Amino acid sequence: MSAITLRELTKVYPNGVRALDALDLEIADGEFFALLGPSGCGKTTLLRTIAGLELASGGSVRIGDRAVTNLPPGQRDVAMVFQDYALFPHMTVRDNIAYPLRIKKVGRAARQDKAASTADELGLSALLDRRPGQLSGGQQQRVALARAMACHPQVFLLDEPLSNLDARLRLEARTFLKRLQRELGVTTVFVTHDQAEALALADRIAVMEGGRIRQVGTPTEVFRRPANTFVAGFIGSTPMNLVPARAHGDELAVAGVRLPVPEEARGRLADAEDVVYGVRPEYLDYSPEPAPGALTGRVVVVENLGSFSLVSLDLPGDDDTTSVQVVVPEGREPQPGDTGWVVPRPGRSLIYRDGELVTGAAAPPVPAPRTGVGADA
Ligand code: ADP
Ligand code: MG
Repeated sequence: MSAITLRELTKVYPNGVRALDALDLEIADGEFFALLGPSGCGKTTLLRTIAGLELASGGSVRIGDRAVTNLPPGQRDVAMVFQDYALFPHMTVRDNIAYPLRIKKVGRAARQDKAASTADELGLSALLDRRPGQLSGGQQQRVALARAMACHPQVFLLDEPLSNLDARLRLEARTFLKRLQRELGVTTVFVTHDQAEALALADRIAVMEGGRIRQVGTPTEVFRRPANTFVAGFIGSTPMNLVPARAHGDELAVAGVRLPVPEEARGRLADAEDVVYGVRPEYLDYSPEPAPGALTGRVVVVENLGSFSLVSLDLPGDDDTTSVQVVVPEGREPQPGDTGWVVPRPGRSLIYRDGELVTGAAAPPVPAPRTGVGADA
């Protein structure tokens, strides 16, 4: 078993920065888990504290059935791949991959064998005698992965593993990494500031802000039902539309229009209460004509994104800067200056009060976390 359990994990650096603030988190055995958040939110610190490269200021870390909070990195049975790969430039690929085995005092013949077979798994056999300087970025990344795999650790910790690759290579490496993790079934925690990467790769995601976890969930959960407006704005290739609204019984006044209160918030709003109405651009349908239950406004920007466009409309209201974005399929784009209508899809609108999701008994059931081994992709 190599689940990871963090309890009230806190890291305060000597300069007083509280990089981790009493985090509680459970990562399942075999899970491919993403730590996602903006720069400086504590992702690297969390990874390094799990690895033992930083000592916790408070709280505990368990890996499998072992309390490892005070163990040195070498005794935690984890392997970390650093953002810059940290390969030894003077060593060949073979010696780089074999290096952790050398530290573990594995005999020369056995470690060369292991290096060769691991290199083979990652398609690096032809490169064994090269040095890192003679490799592409993608190849260097595979060598770093091979070096981490050679020891058969219980846990992989990957810090922004794809961030040094160019866009096209990053997509390839992403698919490769997902397949590799499925095949190995090793508990893997990877750090990224790229929400698309986290959604694409992870079984579950922890979204972090300022040393705290703001939501933990599957990619579907964090996309469909962000627990707060921070996650709503961070997840998704375009942020969720967040529009001021006022409750009136079972209706909401939103930008001069009456819309029904979304089912799960029904009966939970005080009369005349000011809230925020949230709906993703992907869950709005654009119409060039008036439609029932539609918000209306003036088209200000049309951005061509290939097979669809992102259309921004200014809504009427006290605050004339309120706008919504809507995804419109190709061929149906309006022109700037047009008046347009957007209809929220049923069941896809959310209500936030003081930045937190208003939810209740009608909330959809939470899907169980998928685990890495044998789970569908
Ligand atoms: P991320 O990886 O999410 O960008 P980090 O974990 O690197 O964030 O940093 C979290 C916070 O801790 C930041 O405010 C950063 O400046 C601070 N920090 C990171 N490393 C150190 C350190 N060695 N000493 C002091 N402060 C640090
Ligand atoms: Mg970092």
